[in-house]
This record gives sequence, C-alpha cells and structure tokens, in this order.
Amino acid sequence: MQFRTYAIAMPTPFRGITRREGMVLRGEAGWAEFSPFLDYDDATSAAWLAAALDSAEREWPAAVRDRIPVNCTVPAVGPEQAHEIVRRSGCTTAKVKVAETGQTLADDIARVEAVRDALGPGGKVRVDANGAWTVEDAEVAIRTLAAEHDLEYVEQPCETVEELAELRRLVDVPIAADESIRRAEDPLRVARLDAADVAVLKVQPLGGVHACLRIAEEIGLPVVVSSAVETSIGLAAGVALAAALPELPYACGLGTTSLLDGDVVADPLVPVDGHLPVGRLELDESAFAAVAADPETDERWQQRLAGVVRALEAP
Ligand SMILES: [Mg+2]
Repeated sequence: MQFRTYAIAMPTPFRGITRREGMVLRGEAGWAEFSPFLDYDDATSAAWLAAALDSAEREWPAAVRDRIPVNCTVPAVGPEQAHEIVRRSGCTTAKVKVAETGQTLADDIARVEAVRDALGPGGKVRVDANGAWTVEDAEVAIRTLAAEHDLEYVEQPCETVEELAELRRLVDVPIAADESIRRAEDPLRVARLDAADVAVLKVQPLGGVHACLRIAEEIGLPVVVSSAVETSIGLAAGVALAAALPELPYACGLGTTSLLDGDVVADPLVPVDGHLPVGRLELDESAFAAVAADPETDERWQQRLAGVVRALEAP
C-alpha cells in the first residue's frame, strides 16, 4: 500500500501548529488518512495507523443517516473574529475554545458573548477548556459563563477523570470528556467514575471507525464525533462513525476543513446548512499535487511510518 505525504498550511495556529502534515493511502475499501501529530511517538501513533488501515481495508459500518450536523470551531481569538467565524460557518452550534494560556476569564466571556450574538438565541454554544482549569477555576468559570449564556456542555474542563467527576457534582452544565477518553489507557473509566455526560470520540487516536463504534456501545453515553484536524479523507471516517451511531443527539466537531489551507479531494467536506454529507471520498490528483509534501518531508514521514508499523506489530 502506497502512503503519500501531504503538508498543508493552517491560516490560524491550532494546537500551536501552523502546518498540518500527514499521509493518505488507498486500500481495497477506499482512501484513508494517517496523520498523528508530529509530537506523538510511535507507540501513541499505532492507534492512528490501525485507524487508517481499518478505513482503507474494511467497509464502514452501515449508515443510519445520510448527513451529519456539525458545529463550527472558534479558536481563542478576539470577539470580532469569533463573531465572523460563526456567522460565515452557517452552523447553529459553535464550540468555543476557552481557558487559553495567557488569557483571562474576561476574554472567554467576551468571546462566548460574541458567539452567542452571532448564533442568535436558537443556537447552541459549547466550550472546550482542553483540561486547563482546576476544579475551583472551572466551577467559577462555568457558573459565570452559564449565568448569561446557556451552555450546551463544557468539554474537558479539567485534566483528570477524578477532577471531572468532582466538578460534575458541583455544576449543572453537562460535562463532555475528550482527552480523558482518547489519551486514556482505559477509555471507559470516564463512564465507570460517572465523570461525564457526553463522550467525545475521535477516530484516529481511538483506533478506527469500528473500534469507536464498539467504545460508543460500551461507554453508554451520548457521543460527539470530533476530528483531529484532518483533510476531508480523514474527516470522512469521522462522518462514517457519526452516520453509524444509533443516536446522534449533538452536532459533531467535524467541520474543520476551514482550518486547513488546502485539501486532497476535489470537493472538500465544507458544511452546507451546518451539515456534512456521508460517504467515501476519492483523492483528487490535482488537489493533492497542490499540497504534496516536499521530498524531505515525505522521507521523514516514510521513516516515521516504518517505526509506527513496528509499534503496531509489537506484541
Ligand atoms: Mg476537545
């Protein structure tokens, strides 16, 4: 199987990166993406490779819906830019980054206010702290934000499962677990400790569409499928998971193509009326040519791939 490397600029830094790199491959079932972040070691990246091979080689589970509602994502930008991102997205749900290093609760309040204003009263606002708050900070922040603006849920307010469980007993706003699932040895621990109301699942770090469907069954919580900021090929696997879930009560975090300045398909998965279509996507050679990595970057990824293959095959 041939793995081909892409490198795509990101107009707004996300997760501290300004360029997204990864590989795409085609197996018997279709195109797939392998794009663990650059700071992940081979062992961590093994699940990402398992996910890519799963999508390339196996048919996706049967879809029970043909389009997926998605949220727009608002990075830790100022209120005006936040307003603009939401307005242009066409989405009725927005996920707002909060608790950014170097910013204050006042910045979060201003951003959430701008987003609420752009969505109107019928829209839904969720916030994501990426585990940055202590339980005390989270309680204050959530009470303050929720007093003015009905929050759909708070994603990963604190770092540990224990903290989430403690906070969940202090606030009424539902808690969603993200890092506590995808970076955990045991993704089901969140459910056992009653630490969350919502499970955020990401296809690549959790080993693929089929593995995620199993986790969704076992975890017994409503699921939100989110992306790892992939090209449309990677996003399509997330869409396939969302399409196969028996229930889908929340918009998914799969509307992230706008974070990348290029794609590998002819028609990128851009939300229309806040929804993405379900189905396999084909790589487009001319789109790929515009984002193909230079030979050095490709060589670095081929070497990385060899290491991850060994990690995946290790007993
Ligand atoms: Mg998150």
